Amino acid sequence: MNDSILNFRFDGLSEREIFDKPYRAGQIFKFIYENCIFDFNDMTNIPLNLRKSLSENFRILSIVESARRTSSDGVIKFLFELDDKNCVESVYLKDKNNRVTFCISSQCGCRMGCAFCKTGDMGLIRNLRADEILSQVLYLYKIMKGDASVVDKYFNIVFMGMGEPLDNLTNVETAISKLIDKKNLGISQTRITVSTCGIADKIEDLLKKFPNITLAVSLNSPEQSEREKMMPVSKKYPLNLLFQELKRLYGVYKNRITLEYVLIKGVNMRRQDVDLLSQIDKDIFHINLIPINVGGDDPRRPSEPEIKSFMDKLTAVGLKVTRRYRRGADINADCGQLFYEKFVEGVV
Ligand code: SAH
Ligand code: SF4
Repeated sequence: MNDSILNFRFDGLSEREIFDKPYRAGQIFKFIYENCIFDFNDMTNIPLNLRKSLSENFRILSIVESARRTSSDGVIKFLFELDDKNCVESVYLKDKNNRVTFCISSQCGCRMGCAFCKTGDMGLIRNLRADEILSQVLYLYKIMKGDASVVDKYFNIVFMGMGEPLDNLTNVETAISKLIDKKNLGISQTRITVSTCGIADKIEDLLKKFPNITLAVSLNSPEQSEREKMMPVSKKYPLNLLFQELKRLYGVYKNRITLEYVLIKGVNMRRQDVDLLSQIDKDIFHINLIPINVGGDDPRRPSEPEIKSFMDKLTAVGLKVTRRYRRGADINADCGQLFYEKFVEGVV
């Protein structure tokens, strides 16, 4: 299989003998990153013989769409096939103001085994390469360009699809460095959110390279024993050490941090949870509540009044709290529902 041209830096590419003129690499990059043309044969002002040798030597995207489902609220979930026939999912989200977010996968599966997450049930199949991560972004960018309702040319990227980004840090960092490169998509770091289950000793590496990135940490419980049950990773990175590190990093990088909190009835919505959460440093952290997404009627999903009451209690103790509304629920495109084996036409 040919190497994806997305793996090349502009400078490295322009030096390749394959090009007849020094400006060709720039033209190719423009076709790919600005015009979303993913077939060399469609690059009309490139000489035919060069298009042919480019096609023989490289490919552009390294994923192939194998299915898509559109939700009644406009969310589109894509299933992409990789070279080895494994699949990953990416989600195209549009808010009520038609602002777009791409939810991108960093791994095929995940080895963190969080009890509430379908991706965790898969175990880790493999890490995605940087070009596979970039391919998802470019593919969704093309969808956005073809979406007449979108006026804003900017979009956000969240690493909240399948996988734990910090468990595949090198490839995720390579992908991010290309995404922010002015010669590629030139996205602002602040538009990129990396969400982690709390692999405390890897966060600084990311912030050192991308100090303006948006960081989200999946907290899900403020109580060590409860969190260990929900998130086995918490045994290795206990809450006290995680918070110590997050505070230290705030001192250095000044990034405010979002704490993601999946609301599970009877588990992490108790008075004692409010009391523990009230001790969190309010200047650094903001809490984002995500009512658990589960298929069908599940007793773990809190009702609307229960969600509101918990949110009010957190606000009352001075915390900054937001709530994530369910999106793409009818196609299982919401958080924690990405699980490709279930993604078969007719089976939701
Ligand atoms: N591995 C990373 C990013 C992917 S998961 C992480 O854990 O942060 C993205 C978010 O989905 C996390 O905040 C996670 O807690 C949340 N999530 C997982 N399963 C969920 C579910 N069933 N319902 C709602 N949110 C869920
Ligand atoms: Fe992995 Fe995140 Fe799911 Fe946990 S919540 S299993 S870390 S993808």
